[in-house]
Amino acid sequence: MSHQSCVFCNIIAGKIPATKVYENDRVMVIKDIAPKAPVHLLIIPKVHVPDVAALTDEDAVYATAALLATTELKKQLTGSQSFRLITNTGTDAGQSVFHLHFHFLSGKKMVDL
Ligand code: AMP
Repeated sequence: MSHQSCVFCNIIAGKIPATKVYENDRVMVIKDIAPKAPVHLLIIPKVHVPDVAALTDEDAVYATAALLATTELKKQLTGSQSFRLITNTGTDAGQSVFHLHFHFLSGKKMVDL
């Protein structure tokens, strides 16, 4: 189910432009519009779930597909094969788009958590 006012639902529907780097039946991967690393991708499940804590058994296949997409994205990396995967959950954690997504960050040395 997509939400009319959701930016990621609109990107998936092709109504808002984005730089797509990978897509399959369950996920779309785009470049983040405000990158925080040389490689900053967003892995977006093609189902409108607000965040990881709102996942149901029915949606879980989309979250799994998002994790599996990292295999494809890692193949596209040049140089270091290291990457960080983040999903912010809630405003205090830094979430600003309330459609589940995973930040795929690479291309620089990451600071400790
Ligand atoms: P978060 O703050 O964890 O919810 O992540 C949302 C991310 O979406 C931010 O890093 C934004 O820069 C990114 N973003 C928002 N709108 C767009 C867009 N239209 N195209 C690409 N990335 C976007």
